[in-house]
Amino acid sequence: MKDRKLLMIPGPIEFEPEVLAAIGEPTTSHVDPEFIETFGRAIELIRKVWMAPNGQPFILAGSGTLAMDAAGANLIEPGDRALVLSTGLFGERFAELLSRYGADVTLLPFPLGETVDYGRVKEALASGDYKLMTATHVDTSTGVRVDPKPLGRLGREYGVLTVLDGVCSVAGEELRQEEWGIDVVLTASQKAIGVPPGLALLVASERAIAAFEGRKQPVGSYYVDWGSWLPIMRGYEARHPAYFATPPVNLICGLGVSLNRIIAEGLDRRIARHRRLARAFRAGISALGLSQVPTDSAHAANTLTAPRYPDGVSGVEFLGHVRDAGVILAGGLHPEIASEYFRIGHMGAVTEGEILTTIGAVETGLRRSGHRFVPGAGVKAVQEALSDPD
Ligand SMILES: *Cc1c(COP(=O)(O)O)cnc(C)c1O
Repeated sequence: MKDRKLLMIPGPIEFEPEVLAAIGEPTTSHVDPEFIETFGRAIELIRKVWMAPNGQPFILAGSGTLAMDAAGANLIEPGDRALVLSTGLFGERFAELLSRYGADVTLLPFPLGETVDYGRVKEALASGDYKLMTATHVDTSTGVRVDPKPLGRLGREYGVLTVLDGVCSVAGEELRQEEWGIDVVLTASQKAIGVPPGLALLVASERAIAAFEGRKQPVGSYYVDWGSWLPIMRGYEARHPAYFATPPVNLICGLGVSLNRIIAEGLDRRIARHRRLARAFRAGISALGLSQVPTDSAHAANTLTAPRYPDGVSGVEFLGHVRDAGVILAGGLHPEIASEYFRIGHMGAVTEGEILTTIGAVETGLRRSGHRFVPGAGVKAVQEALSDPD
């Protein structure tokens, strides 16, 4: 285990041994009675984690991008107008994806590091006849969090379907899909859900399913067509399996374990833990003299931090030093600033100990890269923030 490094990137994350053990069990038949129970239960638990008691969950083999694809393919018909609120790279990805299904897309980008300005969204909605609107809850390329409540509210007000890319937020940031009136919330297993890469997860509202059922044209993707998956999801939930395409049996066993752990911790406690650890980590980063990509900590994500390198520090060199100190971090992703910042994921089962180890490794990396600061300043700030009562 001496070679093992701590994986602190914004997905995949450190997975719990119980989850990995469940995945490592011998593969069973996808219609084995025990597996049917696991799959059916996972569907029920997803509704709880999304807080969407009347939503329709889908569990598909694929990554987060496939979950985005499922939303686009099933809800867009050629010529439909779509409004994409973009706070980074993943907003742009959604725009490109929806165009591929024939949508007439209006991209509404917000300045780098800033969150969505809903005043502008309202203006756009008032002047266009949109069928669908998307937003990214946490854009992993900028660390910016968007408030999803006005998204749902405006969607209802203007009769527009709403899709939230929650790949870097679900089970890490507050989410109340049904109360907030959001039609689709999607994610992937390897982020705050805490299961190795390979599952695309989404929950569709009754309104979204009705819009799908009212389509005039067939879905342009064979694999993600809800028409093929609805009987499967409903079947497993009723504990009567059906077959369309082989489910990723082992990953779904891991998902069952992880969802149980999420529910056992309690959603409120889990979100509060993410908030507390993120705040402490950001305090450590600031104490080292580093600024961050989000322009205001009020809209900085609780699932990742995106600090800018101090002057004179080379990213490649720094990330190598941090790795030598035992922690793997991610480089920049947003093309406009890719070489100017780095990213630390702190989501899922993340602990105080991991946050302290990580800030310590960041200090080591900065020292070895020639940045000057009071040694221990980052660790001290994290410790102080962690001992603050919330
Ligand atoms: C990671 C991520 C994606 C893409 O997910 P993949 O699993 O890499 O396909 C999409 N959106 C956001 C916000 C993400 O963080």
